[in-house]
Amino acid sequence: LPAEFENARPVLQTIEDAGYEAYFVGGSVRDTIMGLKIHDVDIASSAYPAELKALFKRTVDTGIEHGTVMVLDHGNGYEVTTFRTESGYQDYRRPDKVEFIRSLPEDLKRRDFTINALAMKENGEVIDLFDGLTDLKNHLIRAVGNPDTRFNEDALRMMRAVRFASKLNFAIDPNTMDAISRHSQLLAKIAVERINTEFVKMMLGSQPQRGLQDMLNTNMVAYVPVFNDYRSAIETMIALPNFKLANENQVWGLLSVMFGLQRNQIAAMLKQWKAANQTISATQKITPAVNAFRDHKLSSVVLFDTGAERLKDSLAVANAIGINIDDQEVLHAYSQLPIKDDHELAINGGVLIKSGVVNPGPDLGRVLKELKLAVINGTVQNDQSQLLATAKRLLNR
Ligand code: ATP
Ligand code: MG
Repeated sequence: LPAEFENARPVLQTIEDAGYEAYFVGGSVRDTIMGLKIHDVDIASSAYPAELKALFKRTVDTGIEHGTVMVLDHGNGYEVTTFRTESGYQDYRRPDKVEFIRSLPEDLKRRDFTINALAMKENGEVIDLFDGLTDLKNHLIRAVGNPDTRFNEDALRMMRAVRFASKLNFAIDPNTMDAISRHSQLLAKIAVERINTEFVKMMLGSQPQRGLQDMLNTNMVAYVPVFNDYRSAIETMIALPNFKLANENQVWGLLSVMFGLQRNQIAAMLKQWKAANQTISATQKITPAVNAFRDHKLSSVVLFDTGAERLKDSLAVANAIGINIDDQEVLHAYSQLPIKDDHELAINGGVLIKSGVVNPGPDLGRVLKELKLAVINGTVQNDQSQLLATAKRLLNR
């Protein structure tokens, strides 16, 4: 067992000693069997939340309404969720009713895919009611039960299928795939934020192009924001040599470059996708930088506007696209910039006004901008008296 499970064993033991059942469940079991690194350990139990809380000194009600209690043990936190059934999915997303139950099989039945419906006892024994181990061996994503029913209950599962296909480099089982094709339009009923989360995770998986291909094949692209207008750009992305992205900004940067989006179009797309404002502004920096790499128009001003953090993302996106660029050379050019931030300019509006060179008003902003460009381009040194002289010249004073 991996260290994360070994550390959690006393928690399961405590629950079992009190006469309840407790198992490792979900992604951590799947990833452990596959030999992948696990991030969080999920535990499922027959004990009800109040019963769990009575067993441990320190717990936090992290999701008590759906039966999740965080147990704190030796500096670690473990989410323990009471076995439950879900029913009445009126909105294709959230069950109307969550019921706590004592039966592990009933809990496993509500889970999305066979590889996610495995449970593991504290001693490492695996409970596999839906042939998840076979699917893991055959690299298959297969819905638990009838796929049509399962996607009707919760349409987000279609995005999750694609996400796991990319993360694990698994194929979606043909029956499950056909059901996704039949129900892809239900995606339009899901909150965009949820789709966004799964989509970004998909793009950050090991095989994003596989995920994109699945989204095209099943017509999911038609029911997520914006993408339907860019089917051929998506095909082009799929045809690129394998790429791997490291963060959300890179995902949207890559898409914006491939879709040929301008600054305002980036904002429009990302607003539709309900992305955070900082994601929008990061993407608006990355995209022009990558375009400049591609068009051999990299300049000091582009480097300055991009900034150190987004420059790394831009290089990652450029490499994903196969733009021939020397990362070290670009980073060196950036390190040579005379200033890297507006605040490093050796003059400011106050000094310009006090010295009588310019009055407050539109001229001030224009002059400051010109001075900044002159310093970035290396035509004036970043020195207050030289900048003052340049300002005077600019204003013919
Ligand atoms: P990750 O490694 O990305 O965390 P995960 O499998 O743990 O993957 P989670 O989203 O953390 O995925 O969900 C934990 C478990 O809860 C899943 O493995 C699955 O059993 C169940 N689950 C999550 N979302 C759904 C859903 N929409 N429908 C059915 N079961 C779900
Ligand atoms: Mg998880």
